[in-house]
Amino acid sequence: MKYGQLKNFVNGSFRDVTSGRTLIITSPIDGTPLAEMPCSTAADLEEAVKAAKAAFPGWSKTPIKERVQVFFRYKYLLEKHLQELSEIVSEENGKTLSEAVAEVEKCIELTEFATSLPQLITGEVLEVSKGVECRTSHVPLGVVASIVPFNFPAMVPNWTIPNAIALGNCMIMKPSDKVPISLTKIAVLLKEAGLPDGVFNIVNGDSEVVNAICDHPDIEAVSFVGSTKVAKIVYQRATQQLKRCLALGGAKNHLLVLPDAKPDMTAQNIAASMSGCAGQRCMAASAMVGIGQVDHIVAKICEEVKKIIPGENLGAVINRESKERIEAYITAAEKQGASILVDGRGAKVAGKENGTYVGPTVIDYVTPEMDVAREEIFGPVISILRTNTIDEALAIENANPYGNAAAVFTQNGGMARYVVDRASAGMIGINVGVPVPREPFSFGGWNESKFGVGDITGKSSIEFWTKLKKSTTKWNPEEGINWMS
Ligand code: NAD
Repeated sequence: MKYGQLKNFVNGSFRDVTSGRTLIITSPIDGTPLAEMPCSTAADLEEAVKAAKAAFPGWSKTPIKERVQVFFRYKYLLEKHLQELSEIVSEENGKTLSEAVAEVEKCIELTEFATSLPQLITGEVLEVSKGVECRTSHVPLGVVASIVPFNFPAMVPNWTIPNAIALGNCMIMKPSDKVPISLTKIAVLLKEAGLPDGVFNIVNGDSEVVNAICDHPDIEAVSFVGSTKVAKIVYQRATQQLKRCLALGGAKNHLLVLPDAKPDMTAQNIAASMSGCAGQRCMAASAMVGIGQVDHIVAKICEEVKKIIPGENLGAVINRESKERIEAYITAAEKQGASILVDGRGAKVAGKENGTYVGPTVIDYVTPEMDVAREEIFGPVISILRTNTIDEALAIENANPYGNAAAVFTQNGGMARYVVDRASAGMIGINVGVPVPREPFSFGGWNESKFGVGDITGKSSIEFWTKLKKSTTKWNPEEGINWMS
């Protein structure tokens, strides 16, 4: 296997895992086995937490302007190793190489934001009464954990690594048990950038080690990104242990399309949003709600979607189970009376017969009670629902339990504002199919797409990764008798 036996990364070096339990990591592109990933136990976690705890006093006392120097070097190393890291991301996740390059470029942007943290976390100071000064400072939490999903093997870990660590915390990273290889490379780059041993540690594994993370008394905060089902488990378990927790879950993003939307631009946006990363993005367009007469736009969407070819500009979905699940959704919608305008079932790529590809799929005349309309599919599938009014469309969007993203396509500013004000989602696009807020704006959904307070990136993440100290000072008692003077 190309990457052989993976190891944990503890206290600056790679270590064997004690359990003996392993999982084989295979490439979704062609089914080639890539690596054997060890499943850590609570004992393996203990070793990593000890290393992180030992590193914390030194790292947290290092001035932030010095800490971010590591991330200036890390950013340079990400640029230098962009091609190599992108190839690993593509191999283990199945996305196209250009999507993987875009992912690593996003890691660079996330790191760039972290290097600006000294400018953003200056505390406040005010003379609150005569001779009395109050000031605030952001203090790191200690050992923190980050648990990540399969769909962005490099980007989602970098939602947390640069910010949490630059802010003075020491981290335990739990990679996805489907795509752990990119993080091994990231650990090497962080070390080369000069990050002290023990500040960043990797503990590979599955639910056993996630549970151990939630239960560990020396881990102060847990961030999680993954499905809503597991987000709920992690949020409940970590907060029951009185930890700070931010758990991002799944999504079902609705795109509302009005008849006045620009057909070409709307179709290109929708096709790109539903098919990018094979639809395995929490920001992917999953349901389009056409308001009134939008047949001309639906026709353009089909034209655009037919240009998306598995194995060329469309990557594979993560595994066989996922391919079968996505195809079963399409079949169920067909049986329930929806019409399949573009059918991606049974896609095959010549020479990659063991790859797990699903072609792009457009399903029209979907009704709100169908599974394809309600559930996260996580594949290159767009379901089109039809309504007569904007309020009916918003009612469909609002009824969905998720709330990551929503978008509206129109040339009417008043209608766009109407949707922005009423859609129940954390991130809204106006003529934008993937409305990811770029740095310094923060990333985070609402409802069942996120549990916990604040967002995971950008300025909002400062509140999650630090605690606020308030100090009140009076040096000259002669200036007044009591502190309220
Ligand atoms: P997942 O929930 O299956 O796994 C996420 C992490 O949890 C992995 O590290 C996994 O090892 C661990 N895990 C899995 N089952 C567990 C269990 N029973 N107990 C404890 N830990 C467990 O998610 P996934 O399939 O890797 O990723 C896809 C999901 O992530 C989608 O639902 C997608 O929408 C979501 N996602 C959300 C965002 C967001 O920002 N909201 C971003 C990326 C992905």
